[in-house]
Amino acid sequence: MNKKNIPMPNRTGYFGIFGGKFMPETTMKALEELETAYRKYKNDKDFTKELNYYLKDYVGRPTALYLAEQLSEAIKGPKIYLKREDLAHTGAHKINNTIGQAILAKRMGKKRIIAETGAGQHGVAVATACALLKLECHVYMGKEDIRRQRLNVLRMRLLGAEIIPVTSGSCTLKDATNEAIRDWVTNIRRTHYIIGSTIGPHPYPMIVRDFQCVIGKESRKQIIEKEGKLPDYLIACVGAGSNSIGMFYPFYNTDVKFIGVEAAGYGLKSGKHAASLVVGELGILHGAKSYLLQDKNGQIKNAHSIAPGLDYPGVGPEHAYYKKINRALYIAVTDKEALEGFDLLAKTEGILPALESAHAIAGLKKISKKFKKKDVVILCLSGRGDKDVDIVAEAFKLQ
Ligand SMILES: *Cc1c(COP(=O)(O)O)cnc(C)c1O
Repeated sequence: MNKKNIPMPNRTGYFGIFGGKFMPETTMKALEELETAYRKYKNDKDFTKELNYYLKDYVGRPTALYLAEQLSEAIKGPKIYLKREDLAHTGAHKINNTIGQAILAKRMGKKRIIAETGAGQHGVAVATACALLKLECHVYMGKEDIRRQRLNVLRMRLLGAEIIPVTSGSCTLKDATNEAIRDWVTNIRRTHYIIGSTIGPHPYPMIVRDFQCVIGKESRKQIIEKEGKLPDYLIACVGAGSNSIGMFYPFYNTDVKFIGVEAAGYGLKSGKHAASLVVGELGILHGAKSYLLQDKNGQIKNAHSIAPGLDYPGVGPEHAYYKKINRALYIAVTDKEALEGFDLLAKTEGILPALESAHAIAGLKKISKKFKKKDVVILCLSGRGDKDVDIVAEAFKLQ
């Protein structure tokens, strides 16, 4: 692979014009300390050994690459493989990142971990890593989200995490993020802030991407074993962007085509969606420049998606860059289409996908005419659907 062509953020954390670190001055030292530590441990033998040990024996990696023959047939399309992140411990890809960052925090001598969570999926993955590695864990969560996501709140508490309710603003994810940043500024010496996706100020988008790249690296090896060649397409859902970039990045320097599927919610025209790449505009949120959902005055709009993990008004800067240079194609599917995707995978393959991953299935179906029959596609099944059963049952009016 020609390393020169692979996008790395530059010294100040930019992918083209996207990214950067738009943060209070009080956090700059901590961001630099984190970057220095990360660059040091990234290639450190002991660090890699510890990380790989937990990924294998604890998370259950490598996750399977499964040829979904019945799904392929139902879509009358290409040969579809599913990368089964739903089989990872805690039921989604998020654990790949939280274990990596928790080990890094430990090496940096930080014993206290903070995180923010919306739907609670990231919070559960952080609480899990902290219990495993004996780190103190505090999770900021909007009061409204605490009410809506009771199961994940209980999971976090059972794992020994402290939940800090946030009662400012709309009492949801972006308010929880503001509070977590405030905590970090105050307690920076002994605290590491685990961000859950490829967002936030540099070096977070790079660090989270690198930890999630295990998805793409494994897929590359597995598809060569099964097909003797690279796939034609990769497809994944895009919330803030971590499962997709983790899948795409190891194939960056090849002819493999990338398709990212965002949430169109009630429809792009309704204004109630989360399609920041498809229809968003340039702005700054949570420390980075990227495409965002904002009103005429530059105020951040509330996102909407039936999938809790896609309900975010921004997207990682590396995706913004891939869009700008046309390295990836981004499309959006509605809540309704995602529910049909959920149903299709359940009935054809006996797998209940997370509603986020159901967007990737629906996206695949939506553009199935684009593929040739002999094409090989890998779809990232980012998580399992147990957490979404109530929402789906209500939508399908099941008793
Ligand atoms: C959080 C989540 C997502 C969205 O986050 P990305 O950072 O875009 O990957 C997707 N799928 C599942 C199962 C999730 O929990």
